[in-house]
Amino acid sequence: MPHPPVLIVGAGPTGLNMALRLAQHGVPFRLIDQHEGPAQESRALAVHARTLEFYRQLGLAEALVAAGTEVEGIRLHEGGQERAHIDIKGIGRGLSPYPFILDLPQDEHEHLLVAWLRERGVEVERATSLLSFRQDGTGVEASIAAPGGRAETARFDYLLGCDGARSKVREGIGTGFDGGTYQHLYYVADVRLESPDRGKDFHLATGPETFALRLPARKGDMERLIGFVPDGIEQPTFETVRGSAEHLLGVKVAEVNWFSTYRVHHRVASSFRRGRAFLLGDAGHLHSPVGGQGMNTGIGDAVNLSWKLAEVLQGRAPPALLDTYEPERIAFARELVATTDRMFRAVVAEGFAGSLFRTTAMPMLLPAAAHFAAGRRALFRFASQIRIHYPDSAFSEGRAGGIAGGDRLPWADGPDNFAPLTSLDWHVQVHGEADAALGAELEELALPLHRFDWSGGAERAGFARGAAYLVRPDGHVALALERGATGRLRAYAGRHGLRFGPSPGAPRSAQA
Ligand SMILES: Cc1cc2nc3c(=O)[nH]c(=O)nc-3n(C[C@H](O)[C@H](O)[C@H](O)COP(=O)(O)OP(=O)(O)OC[C@H]3O[C@@H](n4cnc5c(N)ncnc54)[C@H](O)[C@@H]3O)c2cc1C
Repeated sequence: MPHPPVLIVGAGPTGLNMALRLAQHGVPFRLIDQHEGPAQESRALAVHARTLEFYRQLGLAEALVAAGTEVEGIRLHEGGQERAHIDIKGIGRGLSPYPFILDLPQDEHEHLLVAWLRERGVEVERATSLLSFRQDGTGVEASIAAPGGRAETARFDYLLGCDGARSKVREGIGTGFDGGTYQHLYYVADVRLESPDRGKDFHLATGPETFALRLPARKGDMERLIGFVPDGIEQPTFETVRGSAEHLLGVKVAEVNWFSTYRVHHRVASSFRRGRAFLLGDAGHLHSPVGGQGMNTGIGDAVNLSWKLAEVLQGRAPPALLDTYEPERIAFARELVATTDRMFRAVVAEGFAGSLFRTTAMPMLLPAAAHFAAGRRALFRFASQIRIHYPDSAFSEGRAGGIAGGDRLPWADGPDNFAPLTSLDWHVQVHGEADAALGAELEELALPLHRFDWSGGAERAGFARGAAYLVRPDGHVALALERGATGRLRAYAGRHGLRFGPSPGAPRSAQA
């Protein structure tokens, strides 16, 4: 049997998401991971709205929402006293069908993805490592260590490095990984409190030159604590940090379920691609934990590249489509790393300025921002990743109303204009009356039209009445056309060498 065209290295959230979507597109692949079994640690807790919108395309969002906790508020503490409460319930109402931050431990999240893949006949090949690879003009030859010490060499069309911070694929590509590592050592612990309040809030406690976070970690009464390990401690345990954590957060810990330490990095690879090898997720970018963006960004990378690979491998787009992956995603990764770096430095800064920010500015500014509708919308847009757009992409064109090529298709919050996205295919969306000429053009191009009655929600979201929006399989607008702009879709498809129409075959098992 010939080898499948794609090798995914790494079955963390990024690699699993790539696998989910390639499976749904009917692209065969192998998915390998060096570990014997799935990760057991809770690690990333925040699942943001954009990620849930992507999961909705696969029918998975509701399972995640049911498994997790919708965060209701942020409580700021200083010196053991609560200073401010920010109500974030429904903070993104009108902007997304998922107007909240979902709290779900990463191991439980990954478990749901693995189960979804298994139902479709796809298994992660465990205890299987990529050792090295080389590529030529027609493919990639990968050297793989299989279980039982068996060595294997296999050839693929594309190699996807979803292999985390110490990526072998990044090493093989030979790209830089510029940035730095913060000086402090952090601890993370999943604990049960003596008096659990089963709240649905995030707690941020600050003090001069220190901070601690408390988040719901599991359904039930487990909580996540994060903070600094005091300088100069070689082998910290929970007892090393118990005193400061309990004092700052005003809690008593009854039981410690998991304790670990880590250093925080801020780095972005100089390129996300060399030839037929790509970098995604932590392999390409590492962030400070501010805003819980790391895992969500990796999932966004997988969504961005998966449909492009499917189009190219299925002969519906030229390889030039793959050239858009790096510029679309590296721009966001660089901006995010810089922003979260600035925020993180402000939160943990030493000296008078840092102390003033934590004890005075933050407890005043954040609640004030969250009090006003515009402030709530801005906070949600930043955290949820719905603001990500690709205006400079070679495949982004036009503007109609408030929506330009490259924008995320806005949520119209009335008609369910995200329902067509479950096809994972291109479509054209019109709010209001569609031009008669548009129908003929779409029929010729085999592009489905989804027309919605004009609504207040569409107007608020920025749609122009009767305008046509060509939507990509990842829910971004490729081309925005004012009403009456006939022939432009045909010209767009011709210019980019795109063929629309149903993808070959229904979703099928992706395992070779
Ligand atoms: C303590 C902690 C808390 C965090 N909290 C948050 C948070 O709140 N929000 C957030 O968004 N992010 C958070 N993160 C970051 C988040 O966990 C990562 O961004 C996320 O796991 C990255 O996913 P990934 O799939 O890209 O990489 P990983 O999850 O690292 O997965 C990479 C996989 O590749 C496999 N692999 C590596 N090398 C090879 C090889 N040569 N061959 C085969 N397989 C290989 C590994 O076994 C691993 O399974 C946190 C991280 C930590 C450590």
